[in-house]
Amino acid sequence: MATIVSGGDAYIGGSWTEGDGERIAVANPATGEQIGSVAASTELQVDAAVAEAARAFESWRRTSVLERAELCRRAHLICLERVDEISEMIAAEVGKTVASARSEMEGGTAEHFRRAAEDVLRHRGQVLPSTMDMVTSKKVIVVQQPVGVVAAISPWNFPVDIAAIPIVYGLALGCTAVWKPSEHAPLCAQLFVEVFEQAGFPDGVVNLVHGRGETGAALVANPGVDAVVFTGSVATGERVAREAGLRNRVLELGGNGPQIVLADADIERAADAAVRGCFYLAGQCCTAAERVLVHESIKGEFLETLLARTARLRVGDPFDPETDLGPLCTPEVLERTRLHLDDAVAKGARILAGGGHDGQFHEPTVLDGVTSEMLIAQEETFGPVAPIIGFRSNAEAIAIANETVYGLTAAVFTESLVDAWEFADELRHGTVHVNESTNYWDQLAPFGGMKKSGAGRELSTWMVDALTETKQISFDLARSGRGSGPDME
Ligand code: NDP
Repeated sequence: MATIVSGGDAYIGGSWTEGDGERIAVANPATGEQIGSVAASTELQVDAAVAEAARAFESWRRTSVLERAELCRRAHLICLERVDEISEMIAAEVGKTVASARSEMEGGTAEHFRRAAEDVLRHRGQVLPSTMDMVTSKKVIVVQQPVGVVAAISPWNFPVDIAAIPIVYGLALGCTAVWKPSEHAPLCAQLFVEVFEQAGFPDGVVNLVHGRGETGAALVANPGVDAVVFTGSVATGERVAREAGLRNRVLELGGNGPQIVLADADIERAADAAVRGCFYLAGQCCTAAERVLVHESIKGEFLETLLARTARLRVGDPFDPETDLGPLCTPEVLERTRLHLDDAVAKGARILAGGGHDGQFHEPTVLDGVTSEMLIAQEETFGPVAPIIGFRSNAEAIAIANETVYGLTAAVFTESLVDAWEFADELRHGTVHVNESTNYWDQLAPFGGMKKSGAGRELSTWMVDALTETKQISFDLARSGRGSGPDME
């Protein structure tokens, strides 16, 4: 397994520095074994990191776009060389399978460097005609300038990929960054920061501080931070939004995504998608299918297919290539999964498969007879459960799909273009997939949620918009003035 070679915990102004706060142990959720520790940063050290990022911004924003794109391309290659090492660290820290961690690194993280380099090279401003004066001499130019210091605060489930999006896009645009990773995944964060160091990004352009919630809170509260990109739970996101105030911010929060299976759906395809939607990463995805709505006329056949596929899933060691589901990352996730299952069963739902757990390892569970008054139907579970809800009409399915406070990702399965369009139009979710799992991500499409699932969108040009300030510059190119005094109207 990978070892940390950096000489400290925090990375500030281009130097690895011992954290100045409490030491936090990092445990492997599969074995309970301590695999390392990091020292948290106090507010003082967070302030130093922001000050270094602000100092670096003054020169970094003036570098040519070609230079920034070239550094991103170099980092892309270094990242690919280090995929195995970083993936193994992710698997050890958060319990996802090595295969999933590798896909996070190869398909997401490393690619962000390449895509950000392409996006900034092709990014265009605008020249507008004057719409106030009847002249052709007035020109209005619209440019987007890097916003400044970006605070990136990330969760543990995609511990590197999620943070890489704002950091890499920010750097490509001329911003600088301070990153506070999850307390459950600080070691893979250190390895990833080494990629920037190896690629030759200037000192202070990327900074890393560790710690629990208070370190993240100190970072957001720092007035030197110009933009906040936060990914995590709704409860924390609401606190971050209040503190971020008027600054640019993107909030990527929780979900309770519905997968809706209509009467004419391809059942095998819908069942495969439900397996991916409910059980990928043991259900610990913001885009997980947290509810599976199935038309009553096909529910029996759908359940039979889903149960057969669920029975084939293997729970176990994330380092075993045969494993489909590793352990749940934290005791809190296990506790919430148990609470939601117990509540549902007490209110009349039936467990058709799974339902048990061995320590942090939870069986993939199929739960039938779920209704709106159950916690599992309203809150984010984040565990490996497929809660099945029956419905009889499109209107009923749409009402159920929209009834929670969340609105991140939905999926609908149908062969009818008309029905697909109706659902796509009516679902209040930031993404609606037709005949594709909720856990499908397009890395160049806008990603984000409606309602309490967040604010703003990330990836590609949407990330560019979030991390830049739009400025108009107007020119009056008339060769001589009016000569009749100032225009006061
Ligand atoms: P949390 O909200 O608990 O934590 C997210 C990050 O915020 C962590 O780094 C955490 O530190 C930090 N933090 C905690 N308190 C504060 C604070 N007051 N101010 C600033 N930062 C703070 O989420 P989880 O880590 O448990 O992640 C799971 C959640 O993330 C789920 O709800 C999931 O749906 C959501 N998520 C959303 C995604 C999206 O794109 N919409 C993608 C992935 C996950 P620490 O870890 O030390 O507590």
